[in-house]
Amino acid sequence: MGQSRSIVAGLVASILLASLVPAGRSEAAAARKAASAKPKQSSAKCEMPKFRIVVDVGHTPESYGALSARNDPEFGFNFVLAKLITAKLKSEGFAATRLLVTDGKARPSLLKRVSAAKDDRADLFLSIHHDSVPDTLLETWEFDGAKSYFSDRFSGHSLFVSQQNPHFTTSLMLARMIGRQLKEQGLHYASQYTLPVMGRYRRQLLDKDVGVYRYDGLVVLSRTSSAAVLLEAGSIINRDEEMAMNSPERQETVAGAVAAAIGEFCARR
Ligand SMILES: [Zn+2]
Repeated sequence: MGQSRSIVAGLVASILLASLVPAGRSEAAAARKAASAKPKQSSAKCEMPKFRIVVDVGHTPESYGALSARNDPEFGFNFVLAKLITAKLKSEGFAATRLLVTDGKARPSLLKRVSAAKDDRADLFLSIHHDSVPDTLLETWEFDGAKSYFSDRFSGHSLFVSQQNPHFTTSLMLARMIGRQLKEQGLHYASQYTLPVMGRYRRQLLDKDVGVYRYDGLVVLSRTSSAAVLLEAGSIINRDEEMAMNSPERQETVAGAVAAAIGEFCARR
């Protein structure tokens, strides 16, 4: 994305965000102030209404990520949960939270996300995904009359941060808080990422209590200028967990845990 496009996008974002400021300030004044403000550092104090959180819907409608055991695309799961997390954060006072939906092919869409977060001067980037397994672990079954793939071997959520992110320590702190909240809800994390069977998906476990892994190769974690965390909310290739991830109860639990963790994160700064 070119520089002029970034400025235009930034201005549009400023104007959109200006609609969120309390009544009494004109949009133009708000946009002017936003445009002249220095980029906010992630280390800045957190004021809930001004804290800019970008909730990223993993993948795109065209490049939809994993396919569930019942042949539903990951993108749909990500969209529903990310939307709920966004609504929850807004209702708890994080008025400057934005849901980020990206289109297009996989690789360019990653750079679009990084660029959108930059244009928004995000303080925090949270990417929402649902997990699968490497192809070598897939088994077959018949669902709805069609040959389908599943693996019930692993389940659970997982959190990823990149040591290449300029705010790695902050990212790790938030990921731990999310992990702790999920654990307190009785949910377990996916521990298989340290196993040889995961092949190129093997990761370093940074927090063995709550399931935070290091993943430097992820563009949305390493190239974002704000603190960034990726949440794999659960496995949709696991037949039971797919059903759970589809249930409003589980979606509420996960969204509530994430919002509570971000609230705690903000309060501590
Ligand atoms: Zn994904």
